Amino acid sequence: MHLRAPDESIDHSVDAVERYVEVAHARGVDEIGFSEHVYYFEETRGLWTTPYHLERCRYRLETYVDAIVEAKRRGMPVKLGLEVDYEPDKEEETRDILAPYPWDYLIGSIHFIDGRGIDGEPSLVSEVGVEAAWARYYETLGRAARSGLFDTLGHPDLVKMFGSEIPWDWPAVAEELDGVRVEVSSAGLHKPHGKLYPNAALLSAANARGVEITLASDAHVPQNVGRDLASAIDHARAAGYETVTVFEGRMPRQEVLG
Ligand SMILES: [Zn+2]
Repeated sequence: MHLRAPDESIDHSVDAVERYVEVAHARGVDEIGFSEHVYYFEETRGLWTTPYHLERCRYRLETYVDAIVEAKRRGMPVKLGLEVDYEPDKEEETRDILAPYPWDYLIGSIHFIDGRGIDGEPSLVSEVGVEAAWARYYETLGRAARSGLFDTLGHPDLVKMFGSEIPWDWPAVAEELDGVRVEVSSAGLHKPHGKLYPNAALLSAANARGVEITLASDAHVPQNVGRDLASAIDHARAAGYETVTVFEGRMPRQEVLG
């Protein structure tokens, strides 16, 4: 989830962490992870070329990390993560920027390909067409999986935000994602398409391939912590999953779903 104030403005403070922990506690969620968007941090400016990213890198990575590390020190059940936009030609730079911090996990996400938007604006789908958009997305997501930069991949069928779902070779996609995990996220239920990420066919194929999962509500405000988590768990179970991956210092372990 993203560390924000209740009005969704950036608030990378221990007080902000505490607001999320209070909601988690009230909803019976025993541990939460923060994964702010990587492009909000000035240290990452050199990775970006799109105006969307460049306009946003205005905060200090250290401030964000320190808030969560301090919350942990005070005994709050939180994990330090980051949602990292994968830039295929900047793997080494990405690795170097992130290396100094004590991450519990890193999410790899793709929101733009060659400067064309996938979720905030429909430019990838409108400029290359639906089928090519899906193909480019999975080609790039496969590279993200193989990069070794990430522990899990965020919303791994995001193209459905603007591109219709078409028949696809899901077992082949699952094979590409071998070696990394996929995020099962309830956030899509609140998007216009109203669907969980990823689709059932991809999730079943991932399970058949032995690809593990993480769970996400992708909350951008404290009041959405754990929102529709039961739906995400049901979705994972229906695909055959019985466990979910949790992390400590980037070391994964499986816990029983539920
Ligand atoms: Zn995302």
